[in-house]
Amino acid sequence: MQLSLANKYRPQTFREMIGQQHIIGILEAKMQSESDFMQNYLLTWPRWTGKTTSARILAKAINCLEPIEWNPCNKCANCMAINGSTTLDYVEIDAASHTWVDNIREEILDKALYPPTMLKKKIYVIDEVHMLSKWAFNSLLKTIEEPKWNVCFILATTEIQKVPDTIISRCQVFQFKKVIESEIADHLAEICEKEGFEFQKDALDLIAMISDGGVRDSIKYLDQVSILGKITSENVSKFLWVLSENNVKNFLIIIKTGDKKQIYDAIDQFSQQGIDLFQLAKQVIWIIDKSILEDTDFYLFLSEKFSNILRQIRYYPYPAVLFKMELSPLNSQTSTLTSIPSPSQISTANIQPVSVSSKPVETAILADIQSIPSYEEGQDVWQRVVLSLNEWMLRSNLRDHTILDKLENWVAHLIITNKIAEISLQKAETRSDLEKKLSEIVGEKVILERKFESREDYLARSLDF
Ligand SMILES: [Zn+2]
Repeated sequence: MQLSLANKYRPQTFREMIGQQHIIGILEAKMQSESDFMQNYLLTWPRWTGKTTSARILAKAINCLEPIEWNPCNKCANCMAINGSTTLDYVEIDAASHTWVDNIREEILDKALYPPTMLKKKIYVIDEVHMLSKWAFNSLLKTIEEPKWNVCFILATTEIQKVPDTIISRCQVFQFKKVIESEIADHLAEICEKEGFEFQKDALDLIAMISDGGVRDSIKYLDQVSILGKITSENVSKFLWVLSENNVKNFLIIIKTGDKKQIYDAIDQFSQQGIDLFQLAKQVIWIIDKSILEDTDFYLFLSEKFSNILRQIRYYPYPAVLFKMELSPLNSQTSTLTSIPSPSQISTANIQPVSVSSKPVETAILADIQSIPSYEEGQDVWQRVVLSLNEWMLRSNLRDHTILDKLENWVAHLIITNKIAEISLQKAETRSDLEKKLSEIVGEKVILERKFESREDYLARSLDF
């Protein structure tokens, strides 16, 4: 029988578990120590995969007749019985299923009183233990309060915060961590070598990213893609409805142009092809993380947009529309959950780019005054300056995250409310461009003074009379 890769490479010992080195040493030490004979265990994982596999390894390690350095041998009668689920002494229960919740007393706890028939210890694995009812927890607590040397409970959960403290305090707790992408990719590379698959490193990185910490999922994906032959990014994207890294980068180039039509066309095309836009947003963040130094300003700008997308996409019925809203060059503010409505909304249709040759009409009016008295007026002038910049990212970013607080003695006091805007304004070139444009409007040489302040702090301060 041909085993699926996921089953073939399912870990059978502590040593084979990926990314859990911090726990393996302790688990092995526990197995050595006689004093923990009457111990129950609580395994907690950040996600649903891997819990029962770990519980099974632990059960085998406790019962193995010929352990190898405290790891199960997977060959003795006890290991085989647990692996093949052929003994009544090893019971796996899914607490998410109602039948067990209702019958826990009769089905499990009463039976746990009888000694094992085959294994050294009877093992009860209760998966998703946080799903048990209060009543069931009380019954369980009574049972583990009086531990018996020949019965062991292995509880597993993804939500330890929902497990009562009284239970937690009576168990040895092992907190497994989410497996990081590079560990998964390395593991996949090992499998490819063993299986004789030709592969590209990028393709494995992509699979690891999509699997989101699930080792078993990643192996399943690898298995599927291997049907197409070579493991390349192209084949991964064909099979798993994601874009290859090159195509994601091409999309970023389109975003950078600021050409609304091109951006929207690309998004529509992804929708039609059935590309998973949630994965696409994750891929963009992943590329930003890898390549931030290549184009820092642009990537910082993108990171904000795509963080917004990721925050909302799970609750948004039309992901493509969300993409368009966030990536729309002229409308960058509309959907940001955290943004506070701009006090002065000005219609972009009325904005005339400031040019060196033609002085705008308001110059004359503003030249008469030494300061801008109101917030609205300050913002109005500042928005005109910002929106006359050539680069649309900078335009969008400064528009959302800077406020002209006041103009006094031809010094423009600017409040910056976000880190990305602050970084953009660290560039002398950007500042002098802004100063030049502002000077043109005001009719005098103006110098920019910058101050970083959160928008909340700024608003609180300006409302404080
Ligand atoms: Zn064994």
